[in-house]
Amino acid sequence: MKILIVGGVAGGMSAATRMRRLDEAAEIIVFERGHYVSFANCGLPYYVGGLIEDRSALLLQTPESLASRFRLDVRIDHEVTGIDRAARTVSVRDTVTGTVTTEGYDRLVLAAGATTRSVLPAGSDLPVHTLRTVDDVDQITALLTRASGPGSAETGPAATVAAVVIGAGFIGLEAVENLVLRGVQVTAVEFAGQVLGPLDPEMAAPVAAVLKAHGVDVRVDTSVRGASAGRVLFSDGTDVAADLIIEATGVLPDTSLAAAAGLRIGESGAIWVDDTQRTSDPLIYAVGDGAEKIDAISGGPTRIAMAGLANRHGRAAADSIADSAAGASGVAVAAEPAFGVAIVGVFGTTVAMVGWSERRLLASGRGHRVVHTHPSDHAGYYPGAEQMSVKLLVDAATDAILGAQIVGGHGVDKRIDVIATAMAGGLTASALSRLELAYAPQYGSAKDPINQLGYVADNLAAGTTRSLQWHELAAALAAGEALVDVRTAGEFAAKSIPGAINVPLDELRDRFGDLPAGPLVVHCQVGQRGHTAARLLSQLGREVRNLDGGYKTWAAGAAALAASPRAAVAPAPPVSPVVPTLSTERIVA
Ligand SMILES: Cc1cc2nc3c(=O)[nH]c(=O)nc-3n(C[C@H](O)[C@H](O)[C@H](O)COP(=O)(O)OP(=O)(O)OC[C@H]3O[C@@H](n4cnc5c(N)ncnc54)[C@H](O)[C@@H]3O)c2cc1C
Repeated sequence: MKILIVGGVAGGMSAATRMRRLDEAAEIIVFERGHYVSFANCGLPYYVGGLIEDRSALLLQTPESLASRFRLDVRIDHEVTGIDRAARTVSVRDTVTGTVTTEGYDRLVLAAGATTRSVLPAGSDLPVHTLRTVDDVDQITALLTRASGPGSAETGPAATVAAVVIGAGFIGLEAVENLVLRGVQVTAVEFAGQVLGPLDPEMAAPVAAVLKAHGVDVRVDTSVRGASAGRVLFSDGTDVAADLIIEATGVLPDTSLAAAAGLRIGESGAIWVDDTQRTSDPLIYAVGDGAEKIDAISGGPTRIAMAGLANRHGRAAADSIADSAAGASGVAVAAEPAFGVAIVGVFGTTVAMVGWSERRLLASGRGHRVVHTHPSDHAGYYPGAEQMSVKLLVDAATDAILGAQIVGGHGVDKRIDVIATAMAGGLTASALSRLELAYAPQYGSAKDPINQLGYVADNLAAGTTRSLQWHELAAALAAGEALVDVRTAGEFAAKSIPGAINVPLDELRDRFGDLPAGPLVVHCQVGQRGHTAARLLSQLGREVRNLDGGYKTWAAGAAALAASPRAAVAPAPPVSPVVPTLSTERIVA
């Protein structure tokens, strides 16, 4: 069996090494057009920032190490330029000598990754880089060193360097953070109305606040018109000085070889594969960013460019190839759909997500419930507790978990992984309340943030409580519902939602008769006291809903909308709020 692999990083090298573990006799050749294989692309931004000081730490393997341990024939500086499916050969160009050769295969694995696209208008004359390869970071760090001058350890760089990062997605924000860590003045430009587009706007607003707090000039609803003479011009007519531009505007699956060879391209625009990573040609496999995935929420085709999936599918392709060979070892299992679990760190704030957002669910018309909570990562009485904001999306009909987003500090990573695992295992949202999770005060709470999510979800599913979302509040008030803030008078005086009246939770029973007539919306700071108030009032016969996530979520949503009207979760009808009044002077006092 002769197996050729195109691309020698995440998916390709996983396929190659797994293949060797399954078949000692196979001939395995890996072609990599770059000069490095199996490098840590996810670590590249941290080398720019200086957090990873040793460049060699990025280079996890070499052709020599892969040859000695796995007997792989790894050919760097070799680009596969075409596939002849009838002859079962590929043509390969040596990028150093220009020599073109032909290599035959029994099986071929395409792991060529993704391509970038430039959004910069022609004629821009500033240095422009992407942040995808070792060569990219070598060039970026050399440019930064040149631009900042020699400087010294005591005084820092001799000159301030300025950069514009186009695209405020995952890699864009990693670039921003690491440039700032290097002392670069950064402008982050985002075409959409918010940073981190896959997040819902009220979850993204705190991330934008963190960026601004670290001196980043964040510009949403903005695109770059051009760059020349050391300045970058934006769509709003303003411009900034810049020494370099980093483009992080997203990636597209690299389908060039597959398309030219007549392989089926899926609806998502990536290479179609079956559930064993086989393309429309049974002798050719595709894995990684170039290959189509099945979305676990919709069951439909999707594109997800993540390292974990590339590694998993590389392994799956090798399993499938081993099974298709004579003397099959029977290791292939059908691929699981993908949930799109992702995490990024920005100046100590962790942002994580899985599954679908509320915006996406609304656009698809899928009935859903939303839960916002703001728990601490561990017991509040134990030093160092940090608050996180959690959002859970739940199928209204089945109670299935459809997605989650978490922004905070410590403990965000483990909570998103618990939710992702619960989703993979088919647990309902209410079942999160019953998960038995590790607890000691420095690690969690006896009611872990995951359990708390489950309690709220369970209450909503059972109808024990009713809630409304921050973006639904204006319409509710316009329709005549009264907003009752059940926080303390001090909290109310410090900051409140326009139109709210203040009746602290502990006074609610005494003042019950004085509340405005008609349906009520109650709220507190994070939703918990609001829930108690809603339970009290509904048991006393009032029609009441709790503002989900309380003032904190509402304020984050308001901040998102203030930054851009395009940050709306869903198009909202124009409303003019009706300000409710308390029925007695006593309550006002
Ligand atoms: C800066 C950065 C940070 C990231 N951080 C994370 C993270 O934190 N978490 C996460 O999950 N994912 C992250 N990713 C994404 C992750 O790296 C990719 O999803 C993953 O590497 C995809 O694996 P792949 O094998 O499909 O492609 P790649 O790993 O990109 O490898 C493809 C290789 O194929 C080679 N190639 C292409 N065409 C040819 C050809 N014709 N002939 C020969 N060789 C060819 C390319 O040179 C390339 O080296 C990050 C990516 C980048 C760039």
